[in-house]
Amino acid sequence: MAEPSLKKDPHEAVRFAEVAVPRHVFQTFTYRLSAEQSSQAQVGARVIVPLGRNLVTGYIVDLRDEVPVELEDIEIKDAETLVDTNPVCTPEILQLARWVAEYYACPVGEVIKAALPPGVSNATSSVKPKLRRFVRLLSSANEQKLTGAQRRVIATLETDGPMPLQSLLQSADVSASTISSLEKKGLVEAYAEAVRRDPLSEDLGLKSEAHTLTRAQASVLAQIEQQMNSETYSAFLLHGVTGSGKTEIYMRAMDKALKLGRSAMMLVPEIALTPVFSRGLRARFGDQVAIFHSSLQKGERFDEWTRVRNGDARVVIGTRSAVFAPVKNLGLIVVDEEHESSYRQQESPYYNARDVAIVRAQQASATVVLGSATPSLESFHNARKGKYQLLTLPERIAARPMATARIIDMRTVFARHGKPKVFSDELLEAIRETHDRQEQSIILLNRRGYSSFILCRSCGETVQCPNCDVTLTYHRSERVIVCHYCNHREAVPRVCPACGKKYIYYVGEGTEQLEEMLKLLFPALRVARIDRDTTARRKVFEQSLADFSAGRIDTLVGTQMLAKGHDFPNVTLVGVVSVDAGLALPDFRSAERTFQLITQVAGRAGRGDRPGRVLIQTYHPYHYALRHACAQDYEHFYDEELRYRQNHSYPPFVALASLLVHGPDLGRVRSDSLELRKQLDLANQERKCRILGPAPAPLSRLKGEHRFQLLIKSRSRKHLREVADTAMKAVEINPRSINLEIDPVSIM
Ligand code: ADP
Ligand code: ZN
Repeated sequence: MAEPSLKKDPHEAVRFAEVAVPRHVFQTFTYRLSAEQSSQAQVGARVIVPLGRNLVTGYIVDLRDEVPVELEDIEIKDAETLVDTNPVCTPEILQLARWVAEYYACPVGEVIKAALPPGVSNATSSVKPKLRRFVRLLSSANEQKLTGAQRRVIATLETDGPMPLQSLLQSADVSASTISSLEKKGLVEAYAEAVRRDPLSEDLGLKSEAHTLTRAQASVLAQIEQQMNSETYSAFLLHGVTGSGKTEIYMRAMDKALKLGRSAMMLVPEIALTPVFSRGLRARFGDQVAIFHSSLQKGERFDEWTRVRNGDARVVIGTRSAVFAPVKNLGLIVVDEEHESSYRQQESPYYNARDVAIVRAQQASATVVLGSATPSLESFHNARKGKYQLLTLPERIAARPMATARIIDMRTVFARHGKPKVFSDELLEAIRETHDRQEQSIILLNRRGYSSFILCRSCGETVQCPNCDVTLTYHRSERVIVCHYCNHREAVPRVCPACGKKYIYYVGEGTEQLEEMLKLLFPALRVARIDRDTTARRKVFEQSLADFSAGRIDTLVGTQMLAKGHDFPNVTLVGVVSVDAGLALPDFRSAERTFQLITQVAGRAGRGDRPGRVLIQTYHPYHYALRHACAQDYEHFYDEELRYRQNHSYPPFVALASLLVHGPDLGRVRSDSLELRKQLDLANQERKCRILGPAPAPLSRLKGEHRFQLLIKSRSRKHLREVADTAMKAVEINPRSINLEIDPVSIM
């Protein structure tokens, strides 16, 4: 006897769609499709579905003919509208999104949403192509009686072919009514056609200057091209000092991809950098370039994305989310400044675009090139282990010397004056000299992070956690210093625990004060300031950079964002006012970050014909990150940092996950995080992981929410995930109030 069929009417061919929704929920939902929807639905298409009391845009991740057994007794809702017959999420992007969801333990619906441009991810506020009216000739029909104006229209269309309505009205010098009367006679036709919103439209007519490669560049490029020829997955780490000509290599490699009939993608860390790069790319590759970053208008993004999906654009440049661009037949991915933490998304889904790029290259059998003057420890480690092929460019183009860097010991400056100084005599003298020579200077204040710490001005000591070897953070309200990893706490010492002197203070001067002080000290110096406050207003930021570039400003004061990418040939002095705030951040990556910052900033000095110098003010003159940065010695820094990571069990020697519990009620957050710790311990009975916390997060209160954090470390990524996943399932806390981050880039 045949089994009774689940389907009511086999002729109706109703199907069921498994739908991922763009919410922080881990399950997918089953919906019933109508017969018509069923015949058109494809995996990857958007579908509007009821969820709770709302209608949301979901994405079909699976289609099936029958209801899954476990849902047989549950009422299944109908899908509202099938949005696409041509799925927005291509199979390749869906596969990538699935990997991201799995690896970073986040909902696939959230990943797909992040992968699509904003005007596409949400079908109810969808962006549409921009249409323009065109007119074309249907017949010239000479025998008809026509007015002079009508004849001019016909004649114009006969010579110039179909054209936009507006241009036609101008060329033929007629009004719109002339066109409509011709339309009525059946002689012309007006129709709508999509026109492209081009983010680079103002920059046409740029010239590209391809350089003749230096021998070092040619050798690096040859190795990349050789791998590209094989059309299999390969990965390179290009370690080239600042100004060594990495960009030219990226361009050539992208050109190679096109010659092989494939596409190319280049990721860049900062929006501020994309205009420069993308104009260069436009000059080089013309209309083939599509550009992706968040300050484009929705319509521009939609059009760029559409051009990529249709295969009209084969070179993509963009920030983080561009890694999901639906490029066809991808042959090359370049990740410039691969060490940058902006590749990490700071909200769920917490993915790192550099790592997604590696996986995408594997899936596409493409070549990936990670480039940096200061590779991340993880990438360099991977290169040493042979996972990436290491390429190096140890010298600057045209044998320009690297800037000389010098450490200024602020303890001596303090002793000399008997009181703390913001600017050392040495730095002030250097600013004066530079100005006298009509050269420019950059003054940088490293204030990444928000937490204060205490420091002895006499010996430079900061107070460290006895368990974790990170700096303890000062909590003003309670007058205690706390470890944000393990919650060790102690009272603020009255005297320095190392030297016994009483010159304890906590750190913090702002860029505004620096600017004011310089203006007072040097009335003739033209000073401007750039930091987070001013960059919120992008125009002001761009104007300041333009003024500086044109020599209308002598000295630019700002935070670490000044360290990146900019090319000002007349800058011969960079002063770093306080590097200590960055060194003391309660994060195991603080030394690495500081090393990168100093190296990058040194790369800003002396890019023209005159050599540059860098002065670094610090109370830690012997810190290894500073010593190696001054010596421009990446490899020795790497070796020393790697030992630190090994001794204290930090990545790349362990896999790391952080769990942040947050909410408006302190008591609740505390008890929830203790409950989470309990579940983690239960899941970790075999002790394959080390669990730390809960402790208040360094930003212990943010946007009205209290925040506690736990860390999981394990030599085995598999065990780490098992413990985290088991605990997350068992714990009875709303998943929205726990942020689980795999491989966090900073623990703040
Ligand atoms: P990086 O990205 O490695 O810091 P850039 O790509 O910015 O270095 O190159 C530094 C400078 O050298 C740029 O002004 C660039 O135009 C120039 N340059 C690059 N390659 C060559 C070359 N082969 N010949 C002459 N100049 C070059
Ligand atoms: Zn600790």
